[in-house]
Amino acid sequence: MRALVRTDAGTVWKDIAAVTCGPGQVLVQVSLVGLCRTDLAVAAGRIKVKTPRILGHEFVGRVVSAGSDVRRISIGDKIAADPVLRCGRCDRCLGGWQYACPSAEFMGVDVDGAIAERVAIPEQNAWRIPDSLDDRIAALLEPVAACAAVMKAPIGKTQFGVVFGHSRLARLTAMILQSRGFENIRCVPPNEAPTETDAYDFAIDTEGTTDSLTQLVDCLRPGGVLVLKSRPLRPLALDLKAMLPKEHQIFPVNYAEFGEASRLLLDPAIDFASLLGDVWSADQSDQAFQAAENDAFRKHFIELTSVPARPPEARTQHQCVPSSDA
Ligand SMILES: [Zn+2]
Ligand SMILES: [Zn+2]
Repeated sequence: MRALVRTDAGTVWKDIAAVTCGPGQVLVQVSLVGLCRTDLAVAAGRIKVKTPRILGHEFVGRVVSAGSDVRRISIGDKIAADPVLRCGRCDRCLGGWQYACPSAEFMGVDVDGAIAERVAIPEQNAWRIPDSLDDRIAALLEPVAACAAVMKAPIGKTQFGVVFGHSRLARLTAMILQSRGFENIRCVPPNEAPTETDAYDFAIDTEGTTDSLTQLVDCLRPGGVLVLKSRPLRPLALDLKAMLPKEHQIFPVNYAEFGEASRLLLDPAIDFASLLGDVWSADQSDQAFQAAENDAFRKHFIELTSVPARPPEARTQHQCVPSSDA
């Protein structure tokens, strides 16, 4: 089968051995994969991976085979996935901290991903999606789970909040909050520093830079909540001297529960369509990555139904200019 693989020479379509379905797993015929910053960073070498590595983690497809012990998912189901594979048995997994499982592995980074004709994933990572839902929206499951995680923070619907950032993640976060009754939030792009000082009850950072944290500490009221919703590749500095007198609460958030995220995908109050970019065929994967790199506001997708029959040599060198790591 064909898969888009990060190799030492670049990112290329390769013929690889067909995957099969092990115990507890479902085998998925992939139809569509969304590209996110993690994929761009792997393709461009900003995130180092063990090669060869199949890229991609935001996918939708149909289950074509299932291990005999699989109960919750059936053959024929349309599914999207939680891309973090974990043991499911350790104290953290059983205690609700599965993303901190010592053996947690991220698809497309630590283990092979989903820009492939088929992918096998544990049943616990598969989430059933109604057939009627647009594949492009279904493939947003992981970013929706990531953005909806902000609702874990101790923030209230009537409070005054700021979502800081200029990206689809910032927009999606704000739309999810608004759909949940948060009416008093402002979206501020990073080139417009939040002008309020000591005003906001909570501030959500989606930029992940030292500058963004500095600005948000300044605009939060004493006792305010700083929600960290970005995954910068490098450590950031935090000015504790400015922060301590105001005794801010810092709240890093990772993922909402994926079942909750899959229900959010069906919520007509959230304008997912405004986040959708283009769908590229597999033989346009170069253009797809370039479009995703240039477009911070819309999600771009690769359709897997048209996987190229022959490898287009090693021409797919995604030499993207390193920008923000956020
Ligand atoms: Zn992602
Ligand atoms: Zn575990």
